[in-house]
Amino acid sequence: MKPIDLRSDTVTLPSEAMRAAMARAEVGDDVYGEDPTVNRLEALVAEQLGKEAALYVATGTQSNLIGLMSHCERGDEYIVGQQAHTYKYEGGGAAVLGSIQPQPLENEPDGSLDLERVAAAIKPNDPHFARTRLLALENTIGGKVLPLDYLAQAEALARSRGLAMHLDGARLFNAVVKLGVPASRIARHFDTVSVCLSKGLGAPVGSVLVGPAALMERARRWRKVLGGGMRQAGLMAAAGIHALEHNVQRLADDHANARALAEALQGIPGLRVDPAAVQTNMVFMHLAPEQAEALRHWLAERGMRINAGAVVRLVTHLDVDAAGVAAFADAVRAFFEHAPQGAGRAAALA
Ligand SMILES: *Cc1c(COP(=O)(O)O)cnc(C)c1O
Repeated sequence: MKPIDLRSDTVTLPSEAMRAAMARAEVGDDVYGEDPTVNRLEALVAEQLGKEAALYVATGTQSNLIGLMSHCERGDEYIVGQQAHTYKYEGGGAAVLGSIQPQPLENEPDGSLDLERVAAAIKPNDPHFARTRLLALENTIGGKVLPLDYLAQAEALARSRGLAMHLDGARLFNAVVKLGVPASRIARHFDTVSVCLSKGLGAPVGSVLVGPAALMERARRWRKVLGGGMRQAGLMAAAGIHALEHNVQRLADDHANARALAEALQGIPGLRVDPAAVQTNMVFMHLAPEQAEALRHWLAERGMRINAGAVVRLVTHLDVDAAGVAAFADAVRAFFEHAPQGAGRAAALA
C-alpha cells in the first residue's frame, strides 16, 4: 500500500510529468539574470499576483526574510502574529540577520490580528522606540483563510499609519481556490507577497517573492547577501511552472479530502475534531497527550505518518486521495477501539 503521510503538504514527491519538465528545462546563470526558465517563472508569478516584479528563492523562510529585510532597516520593527510562521518558526531570522525587531501580537481564533491592537502597537516617532515599519500577515494561517474585507481593513489601517504590508502566502493558492478569486485579488492588499511552490503545489523546492520593482531590486541584493543566488536554477523553477500550470485548481480536492477526513474522525471516542472548522487542507485532531505517541506508533506500523502532539495537525495534499484519508480514519478508529483508556479519556476531552 502507498504510504499515507499527513504530517505536512511538503512531503509530496515530484510526478513523472514534473520530472520531465525539469529534465527539458532551458537553463542559464540566474545570478546574471540569464536563466530563461527562472525568468519565466518570475514573470508568471508576478503577473498572477498583479505585481511588477518577482524573485525566485530557495525556501519560504528565505523569501519572508528577504521580504522583511527589503522593507525594514536596522532598528525597524514589524508587527506580526504570535503564531505566524515568520515570527515563530523561522529561527528568529528577522532579528538574527536583519536587526529587525518583531512586535508579536496574539492571533485571533480566525488567524487575524485585531486591528485595534495593531493600531495600539504602532510606536510613536520617538527615539525610545523602534520604528514601526511593516505589518505582516499570513494567509492561509493554520488552514484558515483571512476574509477579504479584513484584508481591506488591515490595508487601510497600514496605509493611514505609513506602514508597508507583507503577506506570508506560503499557502496563498489554497486561499485563492477556497475563495474562488484570482490571486491578485488577495495580493493587491499587500506590497510584497511570498508564495511557496513546495507546499500544496507539489514542487520539490522553491518560493517566489513578489512586489514593486524598486523593492524587488533590494530583495535581489539581499538574496545574494544571504547566499541564495543560485545558478542554473531553472531546473527547479521548471517544477514550479509545472506546479502552477497543473496543481492549483486541484487544491480543491485536498480541501474536500480534509473535510471528509474530519467527518470520518468525528465521533471516534477518545478524540475531538471539528469538521466545520476545516476551511482548506488542514484538520486539527485533539487527543489526550499521553496517547499521541502511541497513536503515532500504531499508524506508523500501518504505513501512515503523523507528528505526535496533544493537537495533531493533519494535512492533505496531492499524494493522498479520498481512499487514503478513509483508510487513515479507519486506522485511527481501530487504535481507539484497541486502547480502552482512550475511550475513558473521551469525557475529559468533550
Ligand atoms: C512552510 C512555510 C513557510 C516556510 O517555508 P520553507 O520553505 O519551509 O522555509 C513560511 N510560512 C508558512 C506559513 C509556511 O507554512
